[in-house]
Parts: sequence; structure tokens; C-alpha cells
Amino acid sequence: MTSTPNLTDAIHRQQIRAKALDLGFDDIGFATAQRLNDDEPRLQKWLLNGANAEMAYMANHFEKRVDPRLLVDGACTIVSLLSSYKPAVESNNPDNFKIARYAWGHDYHEVIREKLNELFNYIRDHHYPDLQGRAFVDSAPVLERAWAARAGLGWMGKNTCLIHPKLGSYVFISELIINMPLTGNSSLVNNHCGSCSRCIDACPTQAITPGFVDARKCISYWTIEHKGEIDPSITQNLNNWIFGCDICQEVCPWNRKTPPSKEPSFSPQPQLLQMNKSDWEELSEDSFRIIFKKSAVKRTKYIGLMRNIRANTNQK
Ligand code: SF4
Ligand code: SF4
Repeated sequence: MTSTPNLTDAIHRQQIRAKALDLGFDDIGFATAQRLNDDEPRLQKWLLNGANAEMAYMANHFEKRVDPRLLVDGACTIVSLLSSYKPAVESNNPDNFKIARYAWGHDYHEVIREKLNELFNYIRDHHYPDLQGRAFVDSAPVLERAWAARAGLGWMGKNTCLIHPKLGSYVFISELIINMPLTGNSSLVNNHCGSCSRCIDACPTQAITPGFVDARKCISYWTIEHKGEIDPSITQNLNNWIFGCDICQEVCPWNRKTPPSKEPSFSPQPQLLQMNKSDWEELSEDSFRIIFKKSAVKRTKYIGLMRNIRANTNQK
């Protein structure tokens, strides 16, 4: 393995950072690949409690999830990257259903993967010819928020979102796990939640206890991940959400003054903001395919989205 002299380590990081920002990422941090000893008990408790609901995949690959060296051969560094998706415009039509902001634009998996691949190639071509590793964007057993916090990009709020001091929590987290040794971040960002409990108080289904979200009560889980009918205890609290839920982020003071995303692909599709509830209720499968062709909403499939619309309508 090629060694990275300490003298140039800072320069490597500086240049990789500049390239990442140039590619459109909003922030980047570095962490040393190691076992996540502090986060392991939290994940274990969440799983033992059954708070992963029917997301059995969250219990798979536990060892790889807490130790990225088991996921990627020769892993030395986690390069953690943030991309803001905060929309520049908001929907203010009271006669519309709601979709979580992260899904308003082009599917983030596709947009970010392309940038990650470019960054990987840049590091290999300009910094480390023997580079090996993998790119991840919400695609494998990686504790993304824990790594972003370790890389000095923010803290984990009581609603379990990563909160970046300048970008807030409307951010996508992605990583390169690579064999290039780079010095990791040495100090964590302080947790600034303090005595605030807005997210806990605002959650309509009481899914949040500090640092713990119970998927069995979370609208986001029920409208995206769950198959079959939605539990009546949830339907009466859907509050017009038909794909995901942003309530615990909407109330967070750290999202109040953050700048909108610079990534044009994450801009909301105009149709989504203009639709009325009756348009949604009458949505055909063909229109669903066209509107959500490049959107993360296609994850629910037509049948899931219509189930969510019905669940909202039937509670009236
Ligand atoms: S996403 Fe919605 S339902 Fe889930 S924890 Fe946040 S406020 Fe509660
Ligand atoms: S709403 Fe308050 S408690 Fe919740 S994550 Fe934001 S700052 Fe922390």
C-alpha cells in the first residue's frame, strides 16, 4: 500500500475538499475507519426493541454496519459528504397532499452517485494511484449519520437527523470508503439541541424519544417502507403526508435560516407543487410513471402511493 506522508496529508485533504465542493457537495469531512463502539449499543437497543418495524434488512449485516473495515477490504478512511436538498420554494397550497422534501426533485441516489464516482476518480488520478474502495449513498449497511458526525459535519439531533450547523438537517449523506489513509477529524461538533424538544412535541404519533425514532410509529416508515394497509393509529395522524414526513425537521430551529440547495436536480418538479388533492385522488398509473420516473417516490410504487392517498382521505 502506498503511504501518505504526514507532510502532504493536509494538502491532500484540502484539495479533495476543493474538488468535492466544485462537484456540488456542500460539505465534506474525513474519519478514520474503525469500529463504531459508541454507536453500536444504540443500534442494538433500537433493533432489540423492535423499533425497526418490518425493516428486517436493518438487522442484517450488523457487524458490517458497525465496522466498515468488514464492508470494504482495506478501508482506512471514510470520506463523508453532505448535499443540501432544502428547496428554494415551498408548497403553500392547503389543498395539496404532502411529500417529504427530499423526494421533490430528481432521485438523489442517481444524482449523488455520479458525483461520488467523479470524486473517487479524481482522488485516484491526482492523489492515490492505488485507490480502492466503494461509494455509498443510502445503499448499504453504513451508519451514515454516525460517520458524518465523526467526520465533524454536525451532531445527531433528538429526532436522530444529522444537523449541520450551517446547512441544517435537510441534507443527503453519502460516503466514499477508501483505502487511502487520511487523517480523520479530531473534534466533534457540539450537540446544540440543548433543552429544545420541538421535534418530540410536534411528532403527531409520539414516535420520538431523544435520539430514538420508533419506526412502528413513524409516518415516514408507514408511507414508504410498510407493505399492506396502514394501521388506524397512524392514519388518523397522517396530516396529509402521502410520502414520508418532515414534521420533526420543519419545527427544528436549525432549519430556519439555512440556505436553499444549489443543486438544480433537487428543485421541486413544478407539477408536484401545483397539484390539488383531487388531482392526486384521480392520478392514473401512467401519470404516476411519468411524474415520478426520476423521483425517489417510485419506491412506493403506484399502489403504495394510492394507498397513502386513500388513508388520508378516509380519515376525514
Ligand atoms: S418523520 Fe414524522 S412521524 Fe416520523 S418521527 Fe418525524 S415527525 Fe414523527
Ligand atoms: S427540534 Fe430541537 S431537539 Fe429536535 S433536533 Fe432540532 S434542535 Fe434538536
